[in-house]
Amino acid sequence: MDGSFGGLRSNHPSNSSGIFTISLDFELFWGLRDIMTLEECRATLLGARRAIPEILALFAERGIHATWATVGFLFCSGREELLDSLPEQLPSYSNRSLSPYAAIAATGDSEREDPLHFAPSLVEQIASHPGQELATHTFSHYYCLEPGQTIDTFRADLEAAQRIASRRGVELRSLVFPRNQFNQDYLEVCRELGIVAYRGNQRSWMYRPTSGEEPAIRRAARLADAYLNLTGHNGHPAPAPDTGPPVNVPASRLLRPVSAPLRALETLRLRRITGEMEHAARRGLTYHLWWHPHNFGTDVAANIAFLRRILEHFEVLEQRYGMRSLNMAEIARRRLPH
Ligand SMILES: [Zn+2]
Repeated sequence: MDGSFGGLRSNHPSNSSGIFTISLDFELFWGLRDIMTLEECRATLLGARRAIPEILALFAERGIHATWATVGFLFCSGREELLDSLPEQLPSYSNRSLSPYAAIAATGDSEREDPLHFAPSLVEQIASHPGQELATHTFSHYYCLEPGQTIDTFRADLEAAQRIASRRGVELRSLVFPRNQFNQDYLEVCRELGIVAYRGNQRSWMYRPTSGEEPAIRRAARLADAYLNLTGHNGHPAPAPDTGPPVNVPASRLLRPVSAPLRALETLRLRRITGEMEHAARRGLTYHLWWHPHNFGTDVAANIAFLRRILEHFEVLEQRYGMRSLNMAEIARRRLPH
């Protein structure tokens, strides 16, 4: 399922080589339902569905291993299977609009009828590509820092995610916290339920997770940091062998969509990313790029072209410094005793 280390072209493979890892938060409407209407994001989400096979083809061509942190609801073939797969306890958010469960009644019977809420055919495609790890973004796009929810409702959610995945023959090994709401207290539950790796947040203040609304200054700072070096190079050393499971595979950078108004600056943005990758490759660090398939949804061709340029640069680093492409579970497996 998540492939082997075979097929790498590196001349200098060693444990001190830098690592390039990619994770994608695959959620369709379940990740946006509390902030946008379905009509506002329909075209972008349909674009995400078109982008996924293209991303997979590009990864296959370039030998890239990646982690697809997928919302459990998307594994379901339609409303009936989802209603049949509910957790034993539902999240008790103080802000009730955060819970997606009331919205299930209005979903469609099948993926064909309701492609923004269900995606088993895409889940299947991801699983069938070499080096691609099908991971979890929780069952319900669960918010681990929101008031009202508890560790017990988190456990029930993650159990439901493992159940629906195992129905498709998949064991979930890595987790990405929705909205990056990392909760240290929940790591023990992750460990008990078989999770060996999670994506931690970038260290800078501007990337620290919050619940609820965040100040505009933080968003503006993150936008500027995509073009200019405000936060350093964002590579991370490998986790110490005695940490975890689950081990932290921290994010380095969100890959933002190609922006038409800022097109003149795209070369700068590309250089910001490839410069960070090069820094990690030279020092044996891990560089972790992440995004959502829907970030490619508005202009699939331009975003695939941008990704291709990043992966071409990876190939140079692979040959020059022995940098390797591994998914999150593969990184954890190198660190953890068997
Ligand atoms: Zn998400």
